This record gives sequence, structure tokens and C-alpha cells, in this order.
Amino acid sequence: MSTYNPYEEAKKQLKKAINVLNYPDRDSVYARLSVPERILEVAIPVKMDDGTIKVFKGFRSQHNSARGPYKGGIRYHPQVTKEEVIALSMWMTWKCALADIPYGGGKGGVAVDPHQLSPRELEQLSRNYFRAIAPIVSPDIDIPAPDVYTDPQIMAWFFDEYSKYAGYNAFGVVTAKPLELFGSLGRIYSTGYGTAVAAREAAKVAGINLQGATVSIQGYGNAGYYAAKFLHEWGAKIVAVSDTKGTIINWNGLDPDKLHEWKTTKSAKRSVIDYPDAEQRLEGDTTAPLFLNVDILIPAALENQITGENADKVAAKVIAEAANGPTTVEADEILDKRGVIIAPDFQANAGGVIVSYFEWVQNRQGISWTEEEVKRRLEGKIVASFHAMYEAKQKYNVDWRTAAYIVAVDRVVKAMRLRGWL
Ligand code: GLU
Repeated sequence: MSTYNPYEEAKKQLKKAINVLNYPDRDSVYARLSVPERILEVAIPVKMDDGTIKVFKGFRSQHNSARGPYKGGIRYHPQVTKEEVIALSMWMTWKCALADIPYGGGKGGVAVDPHQLSPRELEQLSRNYFRAIAPIVSPDIDIPAPDVYTDPQIMAWFFDEYSKYAGYNAFGVVTAKPLELFGSLGRIYSTGYGTAVAAREAAKVAGINLQGATVSIQGYGNAGYYAAKFLHEWGAKIVAVSDTKGTIINWNGLDPDKLHEWKTTKSAKRSVIDYPDAEQRLEGDTTAPLFLNVDILIPAALENQITGENADKVAAKVIAEAANGPTTVEADEILDKRGVIIAPDFQANAGGVIVSYFEWVQNRQGISWTEEEVKRRLEGKIVASFHAMYEAKQKYNVDWRTAAYIVAVDRVVKAMRLRGWL
């Protein structure tokens, strides 16, 4: 696992798609798309509560803008590196293109453990980071959003800092803002809802009826919970759920809302492992949901979980990936040969950025859509991208992820050609 390099992985996947697409100028296409158009590295000074100054390292990578302004989140994590941010910005280009929203890809990150900061230090870090990248963002140039360990409050500080810099209320410069600052209804569950819709479409292809279909979920954060909630609403049975402490199983079905409430409402952070309504508890086993004999598997935790070594043990007929990069290229090929239907990460977890786009559209028009409107449009986008991918799979006879790449890369390349960039 320590050898996993996201930038190398991203370039490998790009190369694979370009080879299948068989462009006459494939080396030129790869040369342009394997590097970001621009990357900014900034030093972020923060006056700590003890009076000393600490300087954190931050990045914003702008991978490609052929189809519109750069779009993508900002993560706060001690392991953030320039290479990781570049890889993630490339993935955003494909995610936005496959979802067919008018954006390119971008991503930002700060190398910091936000849990070690006081609220005042966190606010200063956020404001100073955004002030540092302000010259290269705007509602028409680059529109950040949350990612790992960043949230709507941090988006509110970003928005405020940028508005002071620009001299007007720039609501469109950042998305997933709090509702009081014109965030969009539905943004909170958008990723999980999108994954549930992707799983539903994949299940149709597999000939699985959602009524009574069994589902296992690895990871029960925001995306895992909401994917479970909507699949449960549509009649599926959530039979296994894991978090960092272990896995619980109940073949009669778990109630996603009760489990979420139980996990989050008490003062101490609780694990699913102690949830009362479990038939079986596997303490310390965080991968058990991957190998159960279920209809649908939702990996919603970390990258690099289903690999060449363990793909043979995966028994699910459908995999819809809420996490980023849970399945390796080797595993994809093994699963595809066995006929497993996969809605890959940047197809199945695009709900967040799709509703970010809706928020930006609403902000720019000064209107608010109803929750039903947001959900309906989001569903339409996920269904359309799933079927575009499915068509490419049949046309090029490739695995699911490669098919998704083919659709996305080809859309970007076509835009670049029309603009005269290639
Ligand atoms: N960070 C999320 C993603 O990776 C959301 C990005 C956005 O809303 O712009 O898709």
C-alpha cells in the first residue's frame, strides 16, 4: 500500500484510455493532459494561539480548462503533497467531463492536521490560504469546494475572504457553502444520493431487482450513510457496514438512519461495531464488507482496497464506488472478466460536484431551486453518465473504468481540438 502513488496511477489510466481511443496524435494528447496547466504553491503563515508563527504549505492545481473553469475541492490533511493534488485535479477534469458539466478540473490542498488547530487558528489558516490563491481563482476561472476535512464553515470563510479581495459578494467563487450563504439544497447528501442512483442503474444492467437486494457498505461517513439511506428507501437491504473499528452484519437488514443517529448523536464518537442491532460483530475487520456474498457493494472508505490480490474474493455482482480509487487497475480487469458491473468512483461519486455546479448556476442567477428540482436534475446527470459509459464499454469492449475514462477523455480532447489546442 505504501507504494501507491496517485499521480502515477492517474497517468497510467490516462494512457490506457488514450491508447484505446487510438488518436493519430496520441503522444501529443498525452503530453498535454498528463500535466496540469498551472500549479500554485503557497506558504500560509498562521499566528498560533501561543504567539508563535507557523508556516503551512498549500497548493492549488489547475489541470485543464478546455470545457470551462477549473472545479474541485480543497483538502486539509497532513499527507497532502503536490503530486497528490495534481493527480486529484486530473481526476476532477474527468469527473466533470463525464458528468457533462461545463467545468475543467482543479484541486487544492494544505499540508496540515486541522484537528490540531483551535477554531481561531483554523479560520486564520483558511483565510490566509484563500487570500494566497485569490489571484488565480474567481467565479469564472476556478471554483473551489470542500474535500477531506474541509466543510461549509470553511467555505464561508473562503467566500468572505475572496469577496473582500474582489470588492463584491462573489457567491459563485466557492460551492457547498452553508444554506444561509446560498449553498444549494441537497448538497449535503448529493454524493451518497448519486452513488445510490449509480448502483440502481448498475443493478438494472445486472438484472437485479432492488426490492430485497442485499447491500454491504465499507465506510459509514457522509457518502456511505446517504448511499445506504436511499438504497434502503428503494427497497434494498443493508446487511453489512464497517468503519475504522470493524464490521457489523445483520442479514435481516440494518436501518441506515438509526445506525447513523446512533453513531453520531452521542457526545463521544461511536463506532458501528457497538451498534445494538447486529447479528455478528467483526472487531478490527474493516474489509469484511468487500467479501460478503451480496448483490451490491459500496466501497465508501479508502483508496486501494480491492486489489489484484483480493479481487477473486469479491462476491458482489455490482460495485458502486463512493470512495476515490478503492479498486486498482489489476482488480478492475479481474472483476470485469467475471462480469461484475462496476460504477467507478468518478462516475458514481460525482453527485457532490454536480450539485456544486447547480449551486453555482443558482448563485449566478440569484435564484434558489427546490430540493426536488435539485434531486431530479442530479438523478438525470448520473443516469446519463452511467449510460454514456455503458455505451463506450460495449463499443470498445473494455472494463468499466476504462469506458468511463474513454467518455471523459474524448470529451476533453474534442473541446481541445475545437479550440485549436491540439
Ligand atoms: N471534493 C468533491 C469531489 O472531489 C467535490 C468537489 C466540488 O464540489 O467541486 O468531487
